[in-house]
Amino acid sequence: MKSSAYHYIVVGAGSAGCVLAARLSEDPNVKVLLIEAGPSAASVLLRMPAGIRVLYTSPKYNWRFWTEPQAHLNNRAIYIPRGRVVGGCSAINSMIAIRGNPSDYDSWAAQGLPSWSYEHLRPYFRKIEDATLVSGDREQDRGYSGPIRLSYGTLRHAISNAFIESATACGLPENNGFNGSSQIGAGFYELTIADGKRSGAFRYLEAAKGRANLTILANCRVRRLAMLGTCARGVVVEKGGREITVYAEGEVLLTAGAVGSPQLLMLSGIGPADHLRRSAC
Ligand SMILES: Cc1cc2nc3c(=O)[nH]c(=O)nc-3n(C[C@H](O)[C@H](O)[C@H](O)COP(=O)(O)OP(=O)(O)OC[C@H]3O[C@@H](n4cnc5c(N)ncnc54)[C@H](O)[C@@H]3O)c2cc1C
Repeated sequence: MKSSAYHYIVVGAGSAGCVLAARLSEDPNVKVLLIEAGPSAASVLLRMPAGIRVLYTSPKYNWRFWTEPQAHLNNRAIYIPRGRVVGGCSAINSMIAIRGNPSDYDSWAAQGLPSWSYEHLRPYFRKIEDATLVSGDREQDRGYSGPIRLSYGTLRHAISNAFIESATACGLPENNGFNGSSQIGAGFYELTIADGKRSGAFRYLEAAKGRANLTILANCRVRRLAMLGTCARGVVVEKGGREITVYAEGEVLLTAGAVGSPQLLMLSGIGPADHLRRSAC
C-alpha cells in the first residue's frame, strides 16, 4: 500500500519529535505525520513525578537497552533506559532542567556551525520554558510562556542543605539559578515539574491537539526508510503484520533518539559500510 498524503513524516515522538511535529503543524497548509513505536502518554505514571521508579525499568514505556560487554568496564554490560512512548525519554526521565553549558555550543560554532552558538540558541531556550515558578522577577534571559513548566522541588532534605553549606564553606559560590548567568556553584536545580505533574515534551502536542493537519500514529514502529537512490522518500512501517510504505512530499525527519536514529539509518543501508556488509551476510 502506498500513500503520500503528508508533507513531513517525523519518526519518533520523543523530545525532538514532539517539538518538530508541533512547530511544523502550526502552518495549516502542511500535513504532518508523527510516528511513535510506543503508546500514547495517557498513563498517570507518566504524569506523576514519582512514576519514575516504575518507568526506569518498565517494559511498556522503556526500550530497556543493554550495551555489549565493555572491555574498559571490566566487561560489564551497562543498562541504557530509553523512553518508548509519546514524549520519549522526556516522559520517563529524571526531570532535571539545566540548559547545556554555553561553552559546548560555542565549541560547535567554532567547528563550523555558527548558528549553534549559545548566543544564537538563547532565544530558543527562552521559548521552551515557562519559568514563572522559579524566577518570578521576569529576568531578561528567562522565558515565561513556553510549554515546559519549571519549578523547584518541594522537598529540601537537610542533607542537601548541608551539602550546599559545605560546598560554599569550601569556597564554591552558592548558585540557585543554574539557568541564569552562571552554571558554577552549588545549589538546587530546577525541575520540569509544575503543579505536581511532569512537564515533558508531550506538552507540545497538547498545545497542537485538534489540528486537522497533524496525525499522530502511536504503537507503530518504523522498520526502515523508503529510499529512492540516495534520497529518503518515506518510511516503511509495520501495521497488523503487514508492511506499509508511507511517502512524504517534503521531508522525512528522523528523531528516533540516540540509539533509534542510527539503527534506522543502518537498517536502511546508511552507515559504516563494513559493518553493514557484515550484517547482511
Ligand atoms: C532515565 C533517564 C533520565 C534522564 N534524566 C534527564 C534529566 O533529568 N534532565 C535532562 O535534561 N535529560 C535527562 N535525560 C535525557 C533526555 O531525556 C534525553 O536526552 C532526551 O529526551 C532525548 O530526546 P530525543 O528526542 O533525542 O530522543 P527520545 O526522547 O529518546 O525520543 C526518541 C523516540 O523515538 C521513538 N522511536 C525509536 N525508534 C523508533 C522506530 N523505529 N519507530 C518509531 N518510533 C521510534 C522512541 O520510542 C522515542 O519515543 C534522561 C534520560 C533518561 C533515559
